[in-house]
Amino acid sequence: MCADTATREVREGELYDLIIVGGGMVGASLAIALGDSGLRIAIVEAHVPGVETQPTYDDRGIALAYGTQRIFSALNVWAEIAAIAEPIREIHVSDRGHFGATRLRADEEGVPALGQVVTARALGQVLVRHVLDAAALDVIAPARVMDFHDDGGEVQVEIERGGVVDSLRCRLLVAADGGESAIRTQLDVPVVQWQYGQSAVVTNITPTQPHRNVAYERFTDTGPVALLPMSEGRCAVVWTVRDAQVDAVLALDDDAFIDAFQQRFGYRLGRFVRVGRRTAYPLTLLRARESVRGRVAIIGNAAHTLHPIAGQGFNLGIRDVAALAEVIGKGHAAHGDVGAPDVLARYEQWRRGEQRNVALVTDGLARVFSNPLGAVRLGRNIGLLAMDLLPAARHALARGAMGLAGRQPRLARGVPLD
Ligand SMILES: Cc1cc2nc3c(=O)[nH]c(=O)nc-3n(C[C@H](O)[C@H](O)[C@H](O)COP(=O)(O)OP(=O)(O)OC[C@H]3O[C@@H](n4cnc5c(N)ncnc54)[C@H](O)[C@@H]3O)c2cc1C
Repeated sequence: MCADTATREVREGELYDLIIVGGGMVGASLAIALGDSGLRIAIVEAHVPGVETQPTYDDRGIALAYGTQRIFSALNVWAEIAAIAEPIREIHVSDRGHFGATRLRADEEGVPALGQVVTARALGQVLVRHVLDAAALDVIAPARVMDFHDDGGEVQVEIERGGVVDSLRCRLLVAADGGESAIRTQLDVPVVQWQYGQSAVVTNITPTQPHRNVAYERFTDTGPVALLPMSEGRCAVVWTVRDAQVDAVLALDDDAFIDAFQQRFGYRLGRFVRVGRRTAYPLTLLRARESVRGRVAIIGNAAHTLHPIAGQGFNLGIRDVAALAEVIGKGHAAHGDVGAPDVLARYEQWRRGEQRNVALVTDGLARVFSNPLGAVRLGRNIGLLAMDLLPAARHALARGAMGLAGRQPRLARGVPLD
């Protein structure tokens, strides 16, 4: 879907309940969640909302956890995503060349699939279509939020589009503007942040043997490799390499890349025969120490950017969406002010714990499983083996991977908002 501009007529000084900055996966999901709420909502996106132009909707494979599927089902979007998704029925976790391994199975967890894999591009097509179709949403794009001022009662937002700056007002400003969030920066919100010195090389690859809907997470001495089942027998690859090696890996031609990846992954799926275009993403951990300041809420990658090893970034972000949509609905019903301190305090208290825990676990996995030291390797192999032998531990891991741990918002329980 591509349009030159999606901007609806907006009037200078207009007062919205909510302005969402960023129409990436998280901002678009929030707009869809609240599209029918009766609130006055605008969503501002820097790019024309079309998959060819919006870099956030690129070719990376995204594993959507079972909990995310339930949220999209409650939003009436799942049927369209299911049509373009490939189910994960088993996750196989192993340490390459060592004894430790464990398997998580959908049938053991009593669910049809542990998750589903889509490309960000295809997911973007569905989300953008729903955002553009929602008559009650003002989509302002391509346009950029340049500045804002929170005076305690409302937020004044300066929006630039085609060289013209408009000033809009809102009760609540939601920063869904990604890892480099200018809104978070302008608020001077402190962050915990570091670079891993690693990049994720992403592509798709076709093995000679069928993937049988198994996702592989293999830990190697240079970093983790994930292989996710996709349509037409292909697999999405996320290969973590040290930054110093990225240019060399990207410079490999198809045959040389296949050889190098085959050595990393091994022959569990036979030989790899075809590979797609390669893209690299530098890997960072970022966690904002506050996700609420005044009348501003920070969600998705703007609040937490994770190593993709466990495929948790968007899955965590959409649970922010489900919780924020729920507290906004309650706040609106209670006193009509969706950006009031009690509403945002409820959101922050609800989400802080899970955001911190998922960031800690993801970071721990990235470090422990990239560590070549013998003692660390032995410890993680014993851990994997123990996990394989202990159904309760496996079940806890599976529930975390499916996004079902902790207090679940209504949407995550598959229940629509009031
Ligand atoms: C290689 C890789 C693999 C991944 N795999 C998985 C996975 O398997 N599962 C999973 O759950 N997650 C995964 N992730 C994470 C996932 O991609 C992100 O968590 C998700 O894309 C974050 O979405 P977002 O909407 O918060 O931010 P973004 O996608 O960054 O979107 C931000 C949007 O805001 C817009 N914007 C920014 N500033 C402004 C402004 N001032 N005015 C207007 N608009 C603005 C931008 O144009 C952009 O469209 C992966 C990430 C990578 C890099």
